[in-house]
Amino acid sequence: TTTLAAYDAELYAAMTAEAARQEAHIELIASENYASPRVLEAQGSVLTNKYAEGYPGKRYYGGCEFVDVAERLAIDRAKQLFGADYANVQPHSGSSANAAVYLALCAPGDTILGMSLAHGGHLTHGASVNFSGKLFKAVQYGTDDQGLIDYDEVERLAREHRPKMIVAGFSAYSQVLDFPRFRAIADAVGAYLFVDMAHVAGLVAAGLYPNPVPLADVVTTTTHKTLRGPRGGLILARANPEIEKKLQSLVFPGTQGGPLMHVIAAKAVAFKEALEPEFRDYQRQVLANARAMAATCIERGYKVVSGGTENHLFLLDLVAQGLTGKAADAALGAAHITVNKNAVPNDPQSPFVTSGIRIGSPAITTRGFGEAEARQVATWICDILDALRGGEAAAEPVIARVRGEVAALCRRFPVYGA
Ligand code: PLP
Repeated sequence: TTTLAAYDAELYAAMTAEAARQEAHIELIASENYASPRVLEAQGSVLTNKYAEGYPGKRYYGGCEFVDVAERLAIDRAKQLFGADYANVQPHSGSSANAAVYLALCAPGDTILGMSLAHGGHLTHGASVNFSGKLFKAVQYGTDDQGLIDYDEVERLAREHRPKMIVAGFSAYSQVLDFPRFRAIADAVGAYLFVDMAHVAGLVAAGLYPNPVPLADVVTTTTHKTLRGPRGGLILARANPEIEKKLQSLVFPGTQGGPLMHVIAAKAVAFKEALEPEFRDYQRQVLANARAMAATCIERGYKVVSGGTENHLFLLDLVAQGLTGKAADAALGAAHITVNKNAVPNDPQSPFVTSGIRIGSPAITTRGFGEAEARQVATWICDILDALRGGEAAAEPVIARVRGEVAALCRRFPVYGA
């Protein structure tokens, strides 16, 4: 019964250091957020001890009466939040949710059509290194020279390859997806439409981004990005008994064993939070902060892919500045501004180096930054990138100055309390 701190000082030190890092660094990774203390409480609960293979009311283990309540709450709230008739809250992650969807609606060897990783899609949308690219014949669409999805190309590829499923969704795209167009293309070739809304689910929940649930055959999301819940996955669909049955059995026993009941409880908390009016205010600010950062970068002469942002993220294209994403990521990281390198359209660099960075507003908005702070953060980013053009040594003093100013700003906006 000794505390973790006393029992495992080595691990505890790493955890404490990570907590301090999250407070003291400006987090701009578009897929990250700070879950609420209530979400953390549920996730750190004794529900982790319970085996509950099956679904509420139909379990393979005894003693499930209370975790059944938790799972039913999560399911009902997810359905309400997204206007869905069906929700499965058991996927351990976004990738697990996608695995279940593919195997429910496609057979190995079938053709799928998704956005390529290099153009902003996710690994699970058919990348050759991922199960989705290994099990299926993956055809990939991408963006044009402006960084916009070329829907005519999507249609051409769909007509040529007749995929069983078309995947719409992204990890790095700053515009609104045209779900009706995707639906029309899928219908024209008799394909399922699968939308992976992992990045924008919080915006969708707040009514600030089109909801794909009424149009898609199936929708998945992670619960930890803009949605601000625990790490995990979620599957949603309209009423369709045949598809529901397949999804149920492909999550369990198809691709998973026992569900993570503590995480499902934390999902229930996050969905309740997302149903509150304050969540809409938060997502409005997420959009405003992303716009403010993108506008500042454009004013400073930097190129934003696709010319701006309509969601929580944007890509800076550093080709004109002769900078790599890798170098920019490292220099900003040294100033305690965390971003990730990202390929840009027609990127001359390899995927490990790239010529761009991805910038997102969900985490800074959670800690209370408004547009003024967002503009300040973008100004610091441009100051460092400007200096980096003169070499790493030239950037050193600017990085040191910004690091000090970042520390001061972060102290003014504590995440979990001082
Ligand atoms: N789908 C999209 C669009 C994503 O961006 C991500 C995560 O980056 C995932 C799925 C996978 O989620 P997870 O990391 O939980 O497997």
